[in-house]
Amino acid sequence: MNALLGGVETGGTWCACVLGTGPDQLVAETRFHTGPPRETVALIAEFFSDHERPAAIGIAGFGPLDLDPDSPTWGHVTATTKPAWSDFPLASAVGTALGLPVAIDTDVGAAALAEHRWGAGRGAGTVCYVTVGTGIGAGLVIDGRPHHGLVHPEAGHVRIAHDSERDPFAGVCPFHGDCWEGLASGPALAARWGTDPARLPDDHPAWALEARYLALGLLAIVSIVSPERVIVGGGLLARAGLLAAVRGQMRELAAGYPATPMLARRIDEYVREPALGRRAGVLGALALAQSAPA
Ligand code: ZN
Repeated sequence: MNALLGGVETGGTWCACVLGTGPDQLVAETRFHTGPPRETVALIAEFFSDHERPAAIGIAGFGPLDLDPDSPTWGHVTATTKPAWSDFPLASAVGTALGLPVAIDTDVGAAALAEHRWGAGRGAGTVCYVTVGTGIGAGLVIDGRPHHGLVHPEAGHVRIAHDSERDPFAGVCPFHGDCWEGLASGPALAARWGTDPARLPDDHPAWALEARYLALGLLAIVSIVSPERVIVGGGLLARAGLLAAVRGQMRELAAGYPATPMLARRIDEYVREPALGRRAGVLGALALAQSAPA
């Protein structure tokens, strides 16, 4: 399909829109602060009305989302702590405002799709994309599509081994306390150490613990899903040396089983940084638009 498509990413802080057919064929793009839902949809509609009309729109939305195509509330944001967004019919509001067919997935599911198609996941059949920042989110692309089931993956809430003697911190997840996100997200670090993680020096013990927790969660995903590639990004991974430490911990924790070089001497190829940067979500939305119903 070579027709122009639209991609929209509604992030927690920023909303991005692109018009084009791929990362190297963008006709227009914009970015603005995510406001209340109706105002945000109006700004999205304004961007697209200023340009050539696309054939369809893909949306990468912050979750949780109802992605069950048989559900009467398909495309709605479900229970979120973001004011006014709970139960908002995101997909239908954008589709109606633009008069175009829409496809929707989570921001991390879309980012996984974009990295699979154009970025660090190219050539791999099954890709896992994990972002570590204000939360921990994971998207899985299996057979070329973001994976859903009962709901969409919520890997940030996987329970990982928590040694309470080494780390007595109770965790910040409002539902589970010390789940993966509760122990290893940016807000978890801020609460545990009493400061913005960006202020912690590189040699602070926070980073060795963080590497351990990230490795434990990633290995849980690897053990169950067996992705052919793992892509790890997000604000916290900008810390120099953290990804290398995560790889080292994964290698140590895997301890030779499963017996694959990807969890041993080739782990640098297996666990990669994203290639599309902050555009991964909105480019994934563009890729989703290709699957919007005509
Ligand atoms: Zn949790």
